[in-house]
Amino acid sequence: MYPEFGAKPRNLQLGLALDGMNPFGNLSTNLSSWPILLMIYNIPPWLCMKRKYMMLCMMMAGPRQPRNVIDVYLTPLIEDLRNLWVDGVNVYDANVGQTFRLRAMIFCTVNDFLAYGNLSSYSVKRHHACPICEKNTSFMQLKHCKKTIYTRHRRFLKPYHSYRRLKKAFNGTPEIEGALEPLAGHEMYDRVKDIIIVFGKTQRKDHADKNIRKKMSMFFDLPYWTNLNVRHCLNVMHVEKNVCDSLIGTLLNIKGKTKDGLKCR
Ligand SMILES: [Zn+2]
Repeated sequence: MYPEFGAKPRNLQLGLALDGMNPFGNLSTNLSSWPILLMIYNIPPWLCMKRKYMMLCMMMAGPRQPRNVIDVYLTPLIEDLRNLWVDGVNVYDANVGQTFRLRAMIFCTVNDFLAYGNLSSYSVKRHHACPICEKNTSFMQLKHCKKTIYTRHRRFLKPYHSYRRLKKAFNGTPEIEGALEPLAGHEMYDRVKDIIIVFGKTQRKDHADKNIRKKMSMFFDLPYWTNLNVRHCLNVMHVEKNVCDSLIGTLLNIKGKTKDGLKCR
């Protein structure tokens, strides 16, 4: 799509990684810090995850999680990225000994599911938790523990996978329907462009109920963002780590980590 950009090997293709963490988890519970890292993906794979090629470009720290106000914090970053794409900046190449115009683009964000919700401004909680299936998310409300569980995962298998026809091993019904396709960038933009953004706690309840998407993601300010088909990636290893943390925390009954609460019982 952008051959002029792609032809220059010194242009940066960046991945943006972001997650909330508490560096002093064992000391205080009310500190949340959100580091934002930029990774350069168009250098060799054995280098791009090295520490010296990662850029900590921003750090959000505060007593509470930033939630959807995250956009306000991200504004200066998006502005810079916009400049880097539209005009570029002059950078000195010490190896060749000349100045050149450096441009950069973000081609995806890498995060866990909760940060995904923050960045794509989709509510990843409650019934319609899947940002792809949206209102077609298959869920069940458990009667006693009042938790939502998500079902019908077999539709993500290959069309003729043998599991799809098995009934007894699963919930008694076959699953023949296919998985939904994610929306392309411009389709998503059409969907969210008219949403009025209200930041802070004054957000009206009815407004939030009408749209599953609460606002337009900040990243749509980047001119190329609508041309990306996969905009947000889930870091599977990180999600697995979170699941393992919860499992171990529950099995060993670690205070603050265990999920064995009253509702679960
Ligand atoms: Zn889904």
